[in-house]
Amino acid sequence: MNMPLVVQKYGGTSVGTIDRIQHVAQRIARIRKTGTQVVVVVSAMAGETDKLVKLAHQICDNPERREMDLLLSSGERISSALLTMALQALGIPAISMTGRQIGLQTDSVHTRARIKQIDAKRAQQALKENNVIVVAGFQGINEKGDVTTLGRGGSDTSAVALAVALGASQCEIYTDVDGVYTADPRMVPKAKKLDVVSYDEMLEMASLGAKVLQIRCVEFAHKFRMPLVVKSSYIEGGKGTLICEEDSNMEQPVVSGIMYDKNQAKITLKEVPDQPGIAANIFGSIADAGLSVDMIIQNISAEGHTDLSFTLDREELNEAMVIMEKVAKKIRAVNVSADSKIAKISIVGAGMRSHSGVAARIFKSLSKEKINILMISTSEIKVSCIIEQKHTKAAVNALHTAFGLDTKPTPIKSIENKNSPARKKSKIKKK
Ligand code: ASP
Ligand code: MG
Repeated sequence: MNMPLVVQKYGGTSVGTIDRIQHVAQRIARIRKTGTQVVVVVSAMAGETDKLVKLAHQICDNPERREMDLLLSSGERISSALLTMALQALGIPAISMTGRQIGLQTDSVHTRARIKQIDAKRAQQALKENNVIVVAGFQGINEKGDVTTLGRGGSDTSAVALAVALGASQCEIYTDVDGVYTADPRMVPKAKKLDVVSYDEMLEMASLGAKVLQIRCVEFAHKFRMPLVVKSSYIEGGKGTLICEEDSNMEQPVVSGIMYDKNQAKITLKEVPDQPGIAANIFGSIADAGLSVDMIIQNISAEGHTDLSFTLDREELNEAMVIMEKVAKKIRAVNVSADSKIAKISIVGAGMRSHSGVAARIFKSLSKEKINILMISTSEIKVSCIIEQKHTKAAVNALHTAFGLDTKPTPIKSIENKNSPARKKSKIKKK
């Protein structure tokens, strides 16, 4: 009597109103009637979590994280109870569960807890009794039994963890976009939806600012090889984007996506003495302050002095400048300056592993647009460039064209069915 099982996660806009909740209930009812078991994970109704955060901040600037968790977890409870009622109203047996009831155990790092394991006994029983389970995402309990939350956007991670624990065939993430795009469609009119993206690519994209999925959710899915599908809850029958293991038989486009991030700033130290220990001094003090540096370049030295630049998140610029002024004095650098009118443009593609000339093509197409490159960094499947912010749109569009993304990327063999590797079941252990 082994029925197929899917885990579906619905984001805040998908359950944002009673209408939307009823719409989602109808979707689930249809799938349920095909004989598939469904476990649903919900986010709080759109805007709800922000509202709760604001309430807390009306009382104090730095509320205790433990109390924040209890407060924030309530948003997801509301949507899970309402969706369960909507299912029941359609005659579908359904049961709502909080993080505690679903057995999701985490560490004790309040407001950004990590999942340790899921004790899925109760869920398995509820499934046996033919229920759709509607789980309040984003939350668990620690070993003391206190409520914890998984960090903003954490319901995605709840969904993947449950999919793994219950041995689901895949985890479907329903949101307000119909998949992962080659670029931000607001910036690049010719952006196309991707059919398939590898975990590695998705991880790069998520950390470069693609908002579709929480980074940790992708890490989790990768670790347990759980296929993820991103789809829109507004479109019926859309295929969305499948995120899965790279398939060596697959015809890889060289580049899958072009990302941009305008939220960067650059600090330059001029005429730094070129001696051992200087970089350690600079970046040690940045690290001590808990700030994180992204790219670093150092010029070749002239007469024992060199210039050194690095980038970091714009929000951290002021704090970093205060530190750098001090460091500059200590190491006798001549001058420190900041530039926040920059943007980071990145090209991501697993196909880069086996193709050469990617960097050259980037430089050529940017130079054709007369865009100057200020900094460059590369990794196995990514090249990032810092440019002046005013050129962002031109750069992203030029690269989108240069890498052949304006037309639908090379047809990729569907690997949806082939890709069902053995997965670890029931217990999820922390790394
Ligand atoms: N409601 C939480 C948030 O807004 C978690 C989530 O939506 O995944 O961050
Ligand atoms: Mg979300």
